[in-house]
Order: sequence, then structure tokens, then C-alpha cells
Amino acid sequence: MHPGEVGASHALNGMLEFLTSSDEVAVKLRNDYLFLIVPILNPDGVFNGNNRMDSLGQNLNRFYHLPDIQRQPSCYAIKLLVESTRKQIFAFFDLHGHANKKSCFLYGNSIPLTRLQGESILFAKLLSQNCEEIEFASCNFSKKHMSSKDKNEDMSKEGCARVVVHRWTSSPYCYTLETGLHKNVKVDEKGIERYGEDFYSMKTYQSIGVKMLTTFHQMLQKSKKVDDLRKEMIVYAGKLEKITSKSKDINSEGDKKKKEGVVVTTKEFKFEDQGLVEAGKPAVSSFPPGLPRP
Ligand SMILES: [Zn+2]
Repeated sequence: MHPGEVGASHALNGMLEFLTSSDEVAVKLRNDYLFLIVPILNPDGVFNGNNRMDSLGQNLNRFYHLPDIQRQPSCYAIKLLVESTRKQIFAFFDLHGHANKKSCFLYGNSIPLTRLQGESILFAKLLSQNCEEIEFASCNFSKKHMSSKDKNEDMSKEGCARVVVHRWTSSPYCYTLETGLHKNVKVDEKGIERYGEDFYSMKTYQSIGVKMLTTFHQMLQKSKKVDDLRKEMIVYAGKLEKITSKSKDINSEGDKKKKEGVVVTTKEFKFEDQGLVEAGKPAVSSFPPGLPRP
């Protein structure tokens, strides 16, 4: 969608190579799920060598809520594609690269049901454990981030793919992958920038794509490790909810920033409070089991 975000292209290539391989997990994924893969959603932007926009100067990732068949045909086609599945999309990954932030991370959605919010965060947490390039502290699941306006553009994230597809399908597993484009800088687990040489390469981005798929497979298997982490993430989601609702009256610019920092980062929390887990059970069973095989 944004032609300059090359890390996303490499991540998709990694996914495609893995999915078509004879790897045991890839075979299992192919047997259990139908993958709908749409590369290059902004072909005219690619052709023109644009960094972000299409040939009409539009950031297409702001039009999914009301796509026009003439002006945003690729967004319109995605909408038809989702509708053709009767909105039974189990998971959705939109691949991007972040121009400013110096790490790789996921954006998810704010979901009112704590169990489903925990489920949504679980994938990001598990991926960060499997993939050292993914920085969990930079992941964002806040409500505010689902509608925030872009700098210098009068558009909001209300129209971005992960938010709109989540609203169409109710899937908790709708994400934007942001591949950091600063290959010599990354953010460590404490949120501190580290400088070095070639943290990110084509192979790194490809491996992030592969790990997104293998982590997804891992998350849906029964295991003590995943079940324990799921409980932790439900507790974490409950804490995020409390902090977000308490922060509603914070309005000044400075405080807004502070609030966002609290809501988005994970390092503020320890997961020792198991008391809240009681109410939560894994959400997977209450969610549509994915597309039937054709
Ligand atoms: Zn992008």
C-alpha cells in the first residue's frame, strides 16, 4: 500500500516462501486455513515511484471505511473480498513500515471485551518472544490510536485497514505490522534506542513474516506456555482498560502524550496479579473457527 515501506514487501515474501514450502507447520497451516493474500495494493504508486501516496495523492490506508470504486479501487476490492467470505475472516495482517519509530512492532485494536482484548495482545506478546526484532513495548492497542489524526494530513485511522476489518469481522486478530526502517537503530525491551550495524536486513524482514505465521500456529495449539501467557495477557488487558477509562478527562497536549505512553507501553506492568484471571477463559473457542476449505 505504501511503496516506500520495503520491509513490508520482504516480510510478505518471507510469508509466501514459507507458506508454499514443505515445512511441517506450513503444511498444517495450508490444510487448516485458507489464505487470501493481496500484494501491492497501490500499483500506480509503485509504478510512479511514490513513497506513500497513490497517483491521486491519496494515502489509501485511510479509505477502507467508505471506499469509492473509482478513487480507491483496491480498498473497494478488499471490502468485496471480505464480504465474499461472509465476513468470516479469522485473522488479518496489514504489512507496513514505520518511517519514524525505530523498531518493529504491531498495532492492534481496542476491544471492549477484556477476554478478546487479551487474545489480541497475546499474539503480539508471543510474537515478541519468538522474534527478537518485534518490540512489545512499542505495540499499541489503544482506542485513541484507532481514530488518531495524521500529522499534516486531515485523515484519521478510522479508515485504516486493521480498524475497519476488525469492525467488519469482529476478529480480535487484526493487526498492522510496522517494520522499522532504521536499519542501524532499534529499541530494546526498556524502550531505549540502541545503535549498531545492520539490525535489519532483507532476511530479517523475511523472517519476521515467517515468524508471524509460525507464532499464529503456536498460539492456536494447546500448550501450557501459551495458556499461561494467555492468562497474563487477560490480566494485562484488564489493567489497560482501567487505565484508559481513568484517563478520559486528560486533555492537554502534554498529558495526552503521557496518557498515550501509559496506554501503549507494556513495561509498566508486572503480571503477578493472577486474581483477575478467574473471569477469563481463552477466547478462541468463542470465535469463528476460520474459513472452511474450498
Ligand atoms: Zn504504511
